[in-house]
Amino acid sequence: KSGFVAVIGRPNVGKSTLINSLIGQKIAIMSDKPQTTRTRIMCVLTQQDAQMVFLDTPGIHKPKHKLGEYMVRAAEGTLKEVDAIIFVVDATEKFGPGEQYILERLQATERPVILAINKLDLLEDKEQLLPIITGYNGRYNFAATVPISAKEENNLDGLLAEIKKHL
Ligand code: GDP
Ligand code: MG
Repeated sequence: KSGFVAVIGRPNVGKSTLINSLIGQKIAIMSDKPQTTRTRIMCVLTQQDAQMVFLDTPGIHKPKHKLGEYMVRAAEGTLKEVDAIIFVVDATEKFGPGEQYILERLQATERPVILAINKLDLLEDKEQLLPIITGYNGRYNFAATVPISAKEENNLDGLLAEIKKHL
């Protein structure tokens, strides 16, 4: 099994951290400054039963300038070519226009979208998860919903299992 996986989400939700944790090396550029990852970064994860190429896709957000427009177009093109899309959201932040914008872009793709609710480690009460899960799933038909902590490497196996279903 092998395939391409695009990782999308608002700046600072943890896309680069997730890819780094999955690959186990510092490859994707990380920073507290949003939109540091200007180019598409690819990382290959080889496991016994599957090989996955992860694409760090920073460009899916409302463009503020010409370069931004180019990035958005490149990112949208990516979404049509991949085998699966991971939409990363921050468990500690409310659904907002940034998420709404991405969900609208996702309507155009027929690829499976896996919702990864990240920064689970920052939730003091795990019951806070339920309204987030139901909130997002009321807005989009996700192939799966997986709560994770990219930083603490929590439930990444669960995420990989969902991805492998689509390779
Ligand atoms: P990106 O802009 O989506 O690529 O986000 P980054 O991967 O650069 O992460 C943005 C910030 O969130 C960094 O300070 C990360 O250390 C932090 N972060 C990412 N994932 C997690 C997580 O699971 N838990 C916590 N507590 N922080 C995280
Ligand atoms: Mg990044």
